[in-house]
Amino acid sequence: MVNHLLMISADLENLADLQPQGGCDDPNFTYLFKLKCGNCGEVTQKETCLSLNETTPSAKGKTDVHLSQKCKFCSRDGTISMITGRGRPFTQTDAETGTYAPLMLFDCRGYEPVDFVFADGWKAESLEGTKFTDIDLSGGDYADYDEKGECPVMISNVRAKFDVVK
Ligand SMILES: [Zn+2]
Repeated sequence: MVNHLLMISADLENLADLQPQGGCDDPNFTYLFKLKCGNCGEVTQKETCLSLNETTPSAKGKTDVHLSQKCKFCSRDGTISMITGRGRPFTQTDAETGTYAPLMLFDCRGYEPVDFVFADGWKAESLEGTKFTDIDLSGGDYADYDEKGECPVMISNVRAKFDVVK
């Protein structure tokens, strides 16, 4: 079985603990990415939306999955299930060292996830403890001001990748 671990990284200025608004296993957080068919290699044109609280019965009907669809080109069935408990907040240390932090694990059958897109629904905390919510990273960066620390806060250069884990 091959799982794909979504890893995120960014540059943080006076911020720490970047993560989905409701924590790393936020049931409402939306993951956007494209699917590459494991059979014919076609990549979907549009991003697929997945969230933990939206499940669907798989084609075989045994278990619920987070996505079940046929490839438009070769009609092969594919499913994706999300596995919780593997993510952690992206910290200041991660940012300083250019490390990627794991966010969510995807059990993909028939598809490979590619091209994760950052959208909204993120939160982070300033080094002074001020909480910033409703962070929208769809433009690739974010800037605000921390009144307590009297300094600008910024997120930039957001990037993501999928690591294959066994
Ligand atoms: Zn296909």
